[in-house]
Amino acid sequence: MSSSRVAEIEVVVADGGSRKGKEDEEERRRKKQRQQQKGGAEPEPDPVVDVYSAAAYGDLERLRGFVEREGGAASLASPDGNGYHALQWAALNNYPHVALYIIEHGGDVNAQDHAQQTALHWAAVRGATAVADVLLENGARLEAGDVNGYRAVHVAAQYGQTTLLHHIVSKYGADFDALDNEGRSSLHWAAYKGNADTIRLLLFMDANQVRQDKNGCTPLHWAVIRGNLEVCTLLVHAGTKQELKLKDSGGFTPLQLAADKGHRHLTNILSNSTKASFGDKYCLGQLGKAGYAPILFSYLVILMILFLNSIVFAPDFSRITAAVGLWSWVAISLALVSQVVFYRLSRKNPGYIKANTKGLDPKEPLMAIDLSSPTWTGSWSQLCPTCKIIRPVRSKHCPTCKHCVEQFDHHCPWISNCVGKRNKWDFLVFLCMGITTTLLGAAVGFQRLWTEPIILSSSESWTHFMVTKHPGAVLFMFMDIFLLTGALILAGAQATQIARNLTTNEAANQSRYSYLRGPDGRFRNPYNQGCRRNCAYFLVNGYSNDEEAAWPTLQQTLQLS
Ligand SMILES: [Zn+2]
Ligand SMILES: [Zn+2]
Repeated sequence: MSSSRVAEIEVVVADGGSRKGKEDEEERRRKKQRQQQKGGAEPEPDPVVDVYSAAAYGDLERLRGFVEREGGAASLASPDGNGYHALQWAALNNYPHVALYIIEHGGDVNAQDHAQQTALHWAAVRGATAVADVLLENGARLEAGDVNGYRAVHVAAQYGQTTLLHHIVSKYGADFDALDNEGRSSLHWAAYKGNADTIRLLLFMDANQVRQDKNGCTPLHWAVIRGNLEVCTLLVHAGTKQELKLKDSGGFTPLQLAADKGHRHLTNILSNSTKASFGDKYCLGQLGKAGYAPILFSYLVILMILFLNSIVFAPDFSRITAAVGLWSWVAISLALVSQVVFYRLSRKNPGYIKANTKGLDPKEPLMAIDLSSPTWTGSWSQLCPTCKIIRPVRSKHCPTCKHCVEQFDHHCPWISNCVGKRNKWDFLVFLCMGITTTLLGAAVGFQRLWTEPIILSSSESWTHFMVTKHPGAVLFMFMDIFLLTGALILAGAQATQIARNLTTNEAANQSRYSYLRGPDGRFRNPYNQGCRRNCAYFLVNGYSNDEEAAWPTLQQTLQLS
């Protein structure tokens, strides 16, 4: 069987499953919308006509009326025309007081609809945590499976209800590694649906990443089939590399599947990870971490030699003047100091966050969070599934350094280090020194070439003359200006971002971070205090101000609770 056919079949299987769930959801939503429209300003008939609609609208007074005065008590224990129970409606729309009333007046907390879903399943669809509490405290079966074997944890993972998932796991001990009828765990489903935050939570809790379903697919296989880059990256970075080698029933590893589906970027990531795991095995890991720093170092050394050899002491140039000579030595001294700064920069801690630095237990902290706190905004992106820490808002995990970095800016391969809170200042200083040095070098070089007396034959151009007569000097000018351009672009970008109090990572991936969005969903940087204050803070402290978030972070929530 060709690999593409295998992939197609898998997609059909998976879509079948998901479509069913989606249709159920759509049906519910349509029904609710219809009910809401009925309840609109138009003189439409009253939407609350029976026990079920009263439950769906959370209208406890009317519900009580139906049950206690109009003999509707029997309806609480039996389904409506579509086979759904009043308790399910109350659960879907998160009305805990209504749910409690229904349970206390004869509603079965474990009643199932035609798909064998219970009220808890419906609560999981919408992430209705409060109602889930009422259900579970009144005897709802946490691990009840529906017709597909989906438990509440599966449904929560399918719909990306991370908070509810965390709640039922931490408070009631739900089994997040449980399997449905096809052998899929909640991690499979979160990977397939592309719910990155849910995946972060599951990986943080050490969910099994190498479990293969009945088709032999791991969660990574599913993520690859959907071509979701963020999810694949998460799974690969937090993984043990073992899942990269596992084959599905068609005999394909995730890498082969990605290549087969034509996800080129994904193929690169997976093939690099496979290579990296090979490299780690044969001690080539150090080589990978060294990045391009040795290349940049050699480049700078060559540049200095060329400068001395072909510009300052070149025998074929006229004698150097005292002023130009002095400037040349300034340039050389600056270049030497730059090399020292370069070395220090590449070795300096950019702001690695280690587990327990904030006095948190790396395993347990999440379990202590009070999620019912109304101020909590649920920034699950603060979980690092690899380091197993809850990190400050603006940090990010660097897969090359294998650490989370505070105020992560970017991993710079040219210095073989991350640029973060603790070395951003040094990075800017290094760039400015680079610009000054190369600018001086270029000025001296230009002066030497320009003042050189030239005798051109009629057919020869000035450029041709210089290239043949002073090849070293021309090469120096070329390499120097190339470096100058690069440094100028980088320094310009850094300066702009410092003025905006934004990191390179935030600028590039702003859509991924919920803290960079305002209530209207558009970009809004809560750390930006205006150009002047941003720059002043950076110049005084050496890093950007990150104290001004308008909401409590996951860590603050933890310390409060
Ligand atoms: Zn990390
Ligand atoms: Zn790094």
